Amino acid sequence: MASSSLDKDARILIVGAGTFGLSTAFHLVERGYTNATCMDRWEVPSKSSAGWDLSKVARTEYGSPVLTRLAHESLDAWRELEPFASEKLFHQTGWIHMNPPHLGEASREWFMRSVENTRRYGDVSQIEDLPDEDAIKAKCDLLTGDLQGWSGIFNGNAGWVEAMRSMQVLGEYCAKRGVKFVSGPSGVMKELIHDGQTNNVIGVLAEDGTKHLADRIILATGGWSESLLDFEGQLVTVSYGYAHIQLTKEETQKYARLPVLHALGSGFCFPPTADGIYKIAGLPYTLTNYTSVDGRRVSVPRDKALNPTDTLPEECVDLVRRIARACLPELAERPVVYSAMCWDTESIDMQFIISPQDVQPWFPSSPSTLYIATAGSGHAFKNLPVLGKYVCDCLEGTLPEDLRELWRWRPDKVADALPEKRVDIKDLHGWRHDGKSEKDE
Ligand SMILES: Cc1cc2nc3c(=O)[nH]c(=O)nc-3n(C[C@H](O)[C@H](O)[C@H](O)COP(=O)(O)OP(=O)(O)OC[C@H]3O[C@@H](n4cnc5c(N)ncnc54)[C@H](O)[C@@H]3O)c2cc1C
Repeated sequence: MASSSLDKDARILIVGAGTFGLSTAFHLVERGYTNATCMDRWEVPSKSSAGWDLSKVARTEYGSPVLTRLAHESLDAWRELEPFASEKLFHQTGWIHMNPPHLGEASREWFMRSVENTRRYGDVSQIEDLPDEDAIKAKCDLLTGDLQGWSGIFNGNAGWVEAMRSMQVLGEYCAKRGVKFVSGPSGVMKELIHDGQTNNVIGVLAEDGTKHLADRIILATGGWSESLLDFEGQLVTVSYGYAHIQLTKEETQKYARLPVLHALGSGFCFPPTADGIYKIAGLPYTLTNYTSVDGRRVSVPRDKALNPTDTLPEECVDLVRRIARACLPELAERPVVYSAMCWDTESIDMQFIISPQDVQPWFPSSPSTLYIATAGSGHAFKNLPVLGKYVCDCLEGTLPEDLRELWRWRPDKVADALPEKRVDIKDLHGWRHDGKSEKDE
């Protein structure tokens, strides 16, 4: 395929300074582009982004070989690439990836495949089989729960990354190298601007009336994407849940050597932060918030940045404790000091969309002006150091064929989507704390 020509001084507008947006800004400057602008409601780190969080897991176990390879590339970048490496944003604690006995056949099969993939593409010397409860507890003697029938692996290559701080570091790095950041009302996209004659997208109209004109526009708006553009059923905006438990100073020291813990179908536990925050995450279903946008029924984030008193629904606070009950029961029933619904957007196959927004995207003589870079599907943060490389390849028309096909604009695939278990927050209780009932929404 011919590569599309894009001058280094082309005006490139990124909408959304979250994971995809910041990573794209980073790789644009690394490639010598001199005229990139990144707009968002908030200054970096964006309070509305999925990365507005203490920590994210960085691991390589995926059912998809492409995502496993990408995760390995990302872990190397967290360790070796500037500015990530010298800021020590990655904590290589290892992780215990566990397979509880109650799982169905499909989950068990996925677990085996994820381990096989990480062995195939990673450093096997870092992986230890943990065939039973005794092996799991021998690997981590802090685990006190009843893990009879459980098995898993320890992968010393994995760990967790400091989410908010990574965004902050990357934003500062890009700003120093000339990326222009626009926040506040002129940073909020209201709608796309089309050329009256060609109908090509030529910019973005902001909430305050500012017109941001550009040669290429990249929509990297995460959970908000579907309310800004019709994705024809390719995306569903969902929330995952997490909660914080405060540990004492002694407990913080005791649990500091925890690896990240993951039990398929149950959730994640993170090692405590230096100030004793023990984070637990994971629900057996995702949450939606359906509403009507321009006559379309779409799920939209119930943004904690704009609704700061929101918490997880009562039903979810109990569920999010399951992983702690299984692994560290002595901490599981402690009061939750903070909980949040955190929004991301899932594609039909949990792969990203990194693509021109076109039905026939690869028509070289008429390069697209509108690009999509989102659909993190609950797992993109670990790829912060490398995602933008693929977005830049897409802009330059050099994305390898297999990735082009995997991450393309694909409404034709919507009918193949697997059913997912989702519950609308309006059917749950106790997440609003400002006096109104959930049904008032
Ligand atoms: C609770 C939770 C836990 C997760 N855990 C992990 C994990 O452990 N490991 C991992 O790898 N991944 C994890 N993820 C997934 C990961 O965080 C997301 O996939 C990723 O952050 C999505 O990136 P994004 O750029 O698409 O969206 P975001 O990072 O959410 O960024 C979107 C940005 O667009 C901006 N925006 C929206 N609308 C507009 C507008 N109109 N105008 C201007 N700007 C706008 C928003 O303010 C926001 O800053 C988790 C996600 C959640 C929610």
